[in-house]
Amino acid sequence: MMTSKAAVVVAAVLAGGVAVGVAQVPQGRQSEGAIQNRPGADRTPEFPIPSIRDYKPKSTLIVPEHPVPRAKYPVIDIHSHQPAPISEQQFDQVVASMNPLNLQVLVNASGASGDRLVQALAALKASKHKDRMVQFTTIDFRNVGPGWGARAAQQLEADVKAGALGVGEINKGFGLNTRKADGTRLKLDDPELDPVFAAAARLNVPVFIHTADPQEFFRPIDYANERWLELALYPDRRFPSPQFPSFDELMGERDRLFKRHPKTKFIAAHMGWHANNLARLGKMFDEMPNVYGEVGAVLYDLGRQPKTAHDFFVKYQDRILFGKDSYQPDEFPYYWRTFETGDEYFDYYRDYHAFWKLYGMALPDGVLRKLYYQNALKLVPGIPRAGFPN
Ligand SMILES: [Zn+2]
Repeated sequence: MMTSKAAVVVAAVLAGGVAVGVAQVPQGRQSEGAIQNRPGADRTPEFPIPSIRDYKPKSTLIVPEHPVPRAKYPVIDIHSHQPAPISEQQFDQVVASMNPLNLQVLVNASGASGDRLVQALAALKASKHKDRMVQFTTIDFRNVGPGWGARAAQQLEADVKAGALGVGEINKGFGLNTRKADGTRLKLDDPELDPVFAAAARLNVPVFIHTADPQEFFRPIDYANERWLELALYPDRRFPSPQFPSFDELMGERDRLFKRHPKTKFIAAHMGWHANNLARLGKMFDEMPNVYGEVGAVLYDLGRQPKTAHDFFVKYQDRILFGKDSYQPDEFPYYWRTFETGDEYFDYYRDYHAFWKLYGMALPDGVLRKLYYQNALKLVPGIPRAGFPN
């Protein structure tokens, strides 16, 4: 029997939920798939219920542990963000943190164009670490209109001539909110953009592109949303409809862009945000031989499906590149451990990405080499070869 006081609380909670238009799962209900109506299922905890940030039980599981502070092979991080230009002192610090991790080359995907690119390249060239970082250029998608394509293609050609080895990171603003000169949203597959993507193919530079964000960022922020905590913490990661295009609308535009330019090599950042649905990404890889994936910031999805991810990485071993995104040296070993070991149920580094544990994918050495450096060397032939096995 529910006391009248409890009934009032429940009614208030329900009313609150309805008022903000958010469908919440009633407290105490079991997950879908669990056995319902167990004896005692209607019990209420005797102690105050902890918040999701407070409840961090210490695992009692004892299994072998193999932390991997240093990658097994030298690594190219195709998705780094560094100052452009970088000062000698900053570069010294970065390289000192790269060495123990076995990070050999960073691709600065904080793309710089024109004069700033020239300065960024000059700083690298003058440095004693010149083999440890390369620089990408970027495309300015503001005010697209008649004549934009030819100008952008010309700038890209100049930037590649100056020494940029690729394009990117094209950030998620392209698609989400960049406007054309006429005020409408710039769609990823807009024909005005054709000349610049055609130029990338002609110049043989890959285009590294981040489209949309995790699909949960486009969904209602309810208790069934896997990224509830992150969305509650970061207002700028909420992309509600109709203010923003939907996840699938953006994915559709992206796929049409990739198909429109079959000779242009595209690297989809963050595995195209399909690491939670590798079959979908596999279908893309099958249909679009010009598309590659990069693993930055989606380790939580790979590490919760180690068998599926293992088989996927073996099958598509020529299509996946290592990238990390934000440069936090202490986070890289989580990647090495997930890729290299068969460890079970170990911690991930960020609670608002995932409230679950990781499992190792135990990738074979040949696949690790391709993931860590061989695929990047193929796709970005200008990366210095020093430091990599032949
Ligand atoms: Zn990035």
